[in-house]
Amino acid sequence: KGILYLVATPIGNLEDITLRAIKVLKQVDIIAAEDTRQTIKLLNHLEIKKPLVSYYEHNKISKGNYLIEQLLEGKEIALVSDAGTPAISDPGEDLVKLAIENGIQITSIPGPVAAIAGITASGLQCGRFVFEGFLPMNKKVRKDRLSQLKGEIRTIVFYEAPHKLIYTLKDLYEILGDRRIVLARELTKRFEEYLRFSLKEALDFYTEKAPKGEFVLMVEGASEEEIEEERTCKWSNITLGEH
Ligand code: SAM
Repeated sequence: KGILYLVATPIGNLEDITLRAIKVLKQVDIIAAEDTRQTIKLLNHLEIKKPLVSYYEHNKISKGNYLIEQLLEGKEIALVSDAGTPAISDPGEDLVKLAIENGIQITSIPGPVAAIAGITASGLQCGRFVFEGFLPMNKKVRKDRLSQLKGEIRTIVFYEAPHKLIYTLKDLYEILGDRRIVLARELTKRFEEYLRFSLKEALDFYTEKAPKGEFVLMVEGASEEEIEEERTCKWSNITLGEH
């Protein structure tokens, strides 16, 4: 049986790739990529030529089965996503599960993750944090998810697309209150910046100027007072419910 490698690739700066990642990309039989056009740019930069197979959300069942067949025949496959680490808010998780079911060896070749790059320089508590990825689109599911996070004391890390950032900031402000946030924008790229705001300040800022680029959004965890408030609120709801 072959080996499935999960290879982390740059999140912007093409120099952010490990020596081991390059070695693996050179040695495998097939590279499975989320967006082959994007991956070709990286491979051209590294002067690597390999058969590419597209593997993304809408073909993951058929292509997943094909890749497993190849692995069972002994081929070595590297899975890469558009940016960063495969399976982190990216396709990959299902292929990993399928490979495990088929007894195939999997190895992760670590490297950039936008969330980790963002939180380490945020100045928010990063010894303990929770990663939420993208918030769901459905309004109710989204609000329920945010309500569940109200009492979370750890820093909360989200991914967000620029055109949805304002909606997310609004929902966060409405449900969590005026917390401190950090927006890590365009990490590792030319216009990288860390914007440190309160949620209200961020909303005012982006009402004047449309958000552009890629963002990691980090929200400070709940304070002692917020937790106490949340507890009292839940308690009064329970007592009210009993009457
Ligand atoms: N697999 C990737 C990782 O390891 O970080 C994440 C892929 S996810 C589809 C894309 C999201 O990651 C973007 O919408 C943004 O929130 C975040 N992201 C990716 N690259 C970034 C960058 N250079 N700066 C800030 N955020 C980034």
